[in-house]
Amino acid sequence: MRPPGSPEERHPSLDSKIVAALDRVGDALQVLARRAAGAHDLSPTQMRVLVRLYYGPPPDAVAGELAREFDVADPTMSDALSALARKGLIDRSPDPADRRRHVLGLTAAGRAVAHSVARWTAPAEVASSGLSRSEGEGLLSTLLDLLERMHAAGMLSVARTCTTCGHFERGSAPGAWPARHRCAYYGYPMSTSDLRVDCAEHVARGGSGAARG
Ligand code: SF4
Repeated sequence: MRPPGSPEERHPSLDSKIVAALDRVGDALQVLARRAAGAHDLSPTQMRVLVRLYYGPPPDAVAGELAREFDVADPTMSDALSALARKGLIDRSPDPADRRRHVLGLTAAGRAVAHSVARWTAPAEVASSGLSRSEGEGLLSTLLDLLERMHAAGMLSVARTCTTCGHFERGSAPGAWPARHRCAYYGYPMSTSDLRVDCAEHVARGGSGAARG
């Protein structure tokens, strides 16, 4: 019998160990986010908003879309945007297409801060840089499949990955390497390392028009 509180009891199956490991990776990324944001007197959410606005749509630069993007409540996003506006990093102007909402933009100061934090995840790449190409592609493929399933299960509001895209044509059998896929939008073949985690041209499977998770 396993003693109470033993490691085996905490993570009694392979699935629970995988999820626990992903949780720890998430913890490490949160630490990085807090450090990068704190260096500019920002919260992690404020920093992520700046970076999103820096790279441009999708999502649309409006409060509701950003709240959905980061899976936070509307009031939480509203607080973050108010703080960024007070700091002079974003401005808001009425949306000509819908006067009830405001379009967000970076100020010159906001653009400079966003530029300096845009690659805030780069220090974590030391963890994957030692993998061989086949190991790295295998890991990316697995993570994209996990994201696809979590999105399908409603745990992730937005997913703009190739594996959730209506333009994606999966080539090789799962696990085959090197994989040969195809993007029907761009009309070119893709290896696993070409797969995108966040693509502006993504369309939901069975959908049409502008990219949406
Ligand atoms: S449009 Fe973008 S997300 Fe969709 S398959 Fe092509 S590269 Fe991937």
